[in-house]
Amino acid sequence: MARTLGKLNFPVLNKVRLRNKEDYLLVTWEFLESFESASERDIASRLGITAATASQYISALVEEGLLNREGRSILFTPSGKKMTVPLVRMHRVSEVFAYRFLEVPWEDSHVSVMELEHLFYGEKGETLFKNLGRPSTCPHGNPTNPVERVPGISASLLQTGNYKVSRVVFEDRDLLKKLASVEAYPGREVILDTSDGVTLKTEIGEIKLFPAETQALILVK
Ligand SMILES: [Zn+2]
Repeated sequence: MARTLGKLNFPVLNKVRLRNKEDYLLVTWEFLESFESASERDIASRLGITAATASQYISALVEEGLLNREGRSILFTPSGKKMTVPLVRMHRVSEVFAYRFLEVPWEDSHVSVMELEHLFYGEKGETLFKNLGRPSTCPHGNPTNPVERVPGISASLLQTGNYKVSRVVFEDRDLLKKLASVEAYPGREVILDTSDGVTLKTEIGEIKLFPAETQALILVK
């Protein structure tokens, strides 16, 4: 008997796919972790959807008791945080998997696992974590135990000097690509030159951290 393919639930990639609850929670986490604030507009632009769609969905998550609105800010409720921590963890573990075993480029692994990570929630994810050798961070230096504090000072706050890259928060692909071009990966020695904006130098070359907001996304120690 012929079957209609239209009824099958194919995952549609990236922008076209309808964003699910996990995506909203993950992105809210990213903003709060990186900038200590999240707004509907931020979330909408990061997910590539309209502000109206984001607003509607966020209202549903508020209703569900996972998020709170405080003026323009979006915050987690305790149960929202409890649900999101394992999602962030599996996102980061999936990035390690994609980077090491699927040879996904360093700068692409954040975006490329947005589909993959859903397969690894729960027990399977912990097995993957174990078999990856219990990595303490994702390839970009962000902790697989999301509530852990990773030491690092934002590159925007520093004087000229020698530092070591600690982590790249927010994981913006353009910034990651720029960092990859000079191999400024976590753990690498870099020189920050703050004489004219912020220039990051490695043995391979140098890049200007511009726009200025990107300076805050690179944590060094
Ligand atoms: Zn990462």
